[in-house]
Amino acid sequence: MYTISQQDVSVRPELESMTAYLPGESLVAFSTRTGIPIEQIIKLNSNESPYGPVPSAIKALGDCKNYNNYPDSDATILRAALSDYTGLEGSHIVLSHGSNELINLLWHIFLSVGDTIIYCPPTFSLYTSITSFCGASVIEVPRTSEFEIDVEDVLAALTPSTKLIVICSPNNPTGNPIAELDVLALLESGRIVVIDEAYVEFSQRPGGFAHLVPHYRNLVVLRTFSKWAGLAGLRIGYGLLPVWIANYMLQAQCPFEVNVAGYIAAIETLAHLEQVLANVQRITQERERLFDMLKSQSYLTPFPSQGNYILARLDDIYVKIEQVRAAVEEYGILLRYFPKPSLQNYLRVTVGLPEHTDILAQALARVR
Ligand SMILES: *Cc1c(COP(=O)(O)O)cnc(C)c1O
Repeated sequence: MYTISQQDVSVRPELESMTAYLPGESLVAFSTRTGIPIEQIIKLNSNESPYGPVPSAIKALGDCKNYNNYPDSDATILRAALSDYTGLEGSHIVLSHGSNELINLLWHIFLSVGDTIIYCPPTFSLYTSITSFCGASVIEVPRTSEFEIDVEDVLAALTPSTKLIVICSPNNPTGNPIAELDVLALLESGRIVVIDEAYVEFSQRPGGFAHLVPHYRNLVVLRTFSKWAGLAGLRIGYGLLPVWIANYMLQAQCPFEVNVAGYIAAIETLAHLEQVLANVQRITQERERLFDMLKSQSYLTPFPSQGNYILARLDDIYVKIEQVRAAVEEYGILLRYFPKPSLQNYLRVTVGLPEHTDILAQALARVR
């Protein structure tokens, strides 16, 4: 037998330069670090819904008799329900276990070694990790001081190797959406334009840019049930794509990407839309209260948001982000902080229940 030494088996070189995506701290990790019991933690760091799935989803999950069988890989029932919900034909829809996985798949479909994508920070950093994994690289076109996309700058930054332009709208973490005219201008570039609409249900335009998908060969819209429908733990998302890209996705996807539980919960969500949308409305109302509360703290400047989260900047040189963090963690509150130097003085707060806003207010009042 020929045995090889460790050095002979090397990973792809791209992995050496790839920074892994750093998710928000989990309940278990925070509880282990602080000793605070999980039931007492107020988790406002990952934009999850405080309302959870609709009750009928919980019931249907308990009643299901087919967990021993593989799921329906055509997703016939869910595809039809999503077709109603989005107004698009089923041939435009691709499902996956979370929209993160759709980003992974899309990137691998389009990006070869040496290719580039346009990335407009501050935004969701997963886009860059997967780009590195593909051996491609990122062209950064920073947002303006108001966190708007500068379309002229984006168009000027394109090179022949640019395959994808990715825009999150409403943007995580800044909360602002992109204007339709800007999307149209980006589409004119002929590059694949990916609009990540993970938070679109919380915005003033809950239909987002889905209506444009059938009219363009190069527009991809990504959606998820994780945030508005309270299904983050069940991992279910979908893409709205031109049929030619949808077909490549289906070809490249592993079989049975979505599990039975994810299908069931998504189907129940769409069958009880009024209930879910009532929760969305509770969250958007609470977002206003949270905004005012953050604004009333002398050391914070919150930014208006159309997502279920608010970004706030620390504006007092005598207050350090570590102090804020220590104060809120004493109350068992988890917020999102950013390792990047450009967002060092910022925090992001997920909109929770009204009582979460109240406790956060108490904690923030203790800073200084
Ligand atoms: C939360 C989030 C997602 C959702 O990911 P899932 O894999 O569907 O849970 C996608 N994009 C952005 C920008 C997000 O913040």
